[in-house]
Amino acid sequence: MAAAYSRELLKEALPLVAREIDSTVVEVRGRKIGGAYFGLVAGPCTVESREQTLVTARAVADAGATMLRGGAFKPRTSPYSFQGLGSEGLAILREAREETGLPIVTELLDPRHVEEVADTADVIQIGARNMQNSGLLAEVGRLDKPVLIKRGPAASVDELLMAAECVAKEGNEQIVLCERGIKTFESRTRYTLDLGAVAVLKRETHLPVIVDPSHAAGRRDLVPPLARAAAAVGADGVLIEVHPQPDEALCDGPQQLAADEFAEVAGEIAAVARLLGKQIG
Ligand code: PEP
Ligand code: MN
Repeated sequence: MAAAYSRELLKEALPLVAREIDSTVVEVRGRKIGGAYFGLVAGPCTVESREQTLVTARAVADAGATMLRGGAFKPRTSPYSFQGLGSEGLAILREAREETGLPIVTELLDPRHVEEVADTADVIQIGARNMQNSGLLAEVGRLDKPVLIKRGPAASVDELLMAAECVAKEGNEQIVLCERGIKTFESRTRYTLDLGAVAVLKRETHLPVIVDPSHAAGRRDLVPPLARAAAAVGADGVLIEVHPQPDEALCDGPQQLAADEFAEVAGEIAAVARLLGKQIG
């Protein structure tokens, strides 16, 4: 898809996700994202152990998070890096949900794990690397479960919208989009957070749009300002990585917030969201 769609073509190309109707609210276990509801999704990059996950889950729940995120199956750039605990990680996430009541957001990497991941996840994350994996998108499109699609670092807004259309076409319209930074020439941040894309998405689709400042920044000192900016631009939520001891993390340590840092920014984000007429979902 080379050029951006005109408004008329948009409706034709994206009959299910183009904005024609009011904002869609995705609801899971009583938590809502979209419309008047702002989602605070937080948790470790990776489920490393029972202790690390439960401690984080309690901390983010106390700080007002609305959903718990954590990867059991991890997409890693190097095949020698920790790949996640897999099934054991899913069991730990179930325990965290039982204790905190927070719905679980976790990534599906491989179509062979659909049943297993769907069995635990309340929201299935399709990671940036898989945004254009049409087989995987079709699989989650056939489930009756919300899907969080992260924008690929080299994908355009139109390509992200088309990924959502791939899911919706199979019957599943419970979709949340996530801007998580794109590749540019800038090297001071891990990726470049494209808040312009969030503004465009909010105009072009009825689906909720959230922002992941953690992967975009790649460094924890920039997560709070980017998270506040995300709320200010009109995002429907944020996704923030939190770890009890970020410097010891097995994955993405430099960008994970400690629990008290998350508590502080959660309050600030909620205040900005309220200013825009939204309540924490
Ligand atoms: C993640 O959310 O932990 C993750 C791997 O993100 P992304 O797919 O955006 O790189
Ligand atoms: Mn991560």
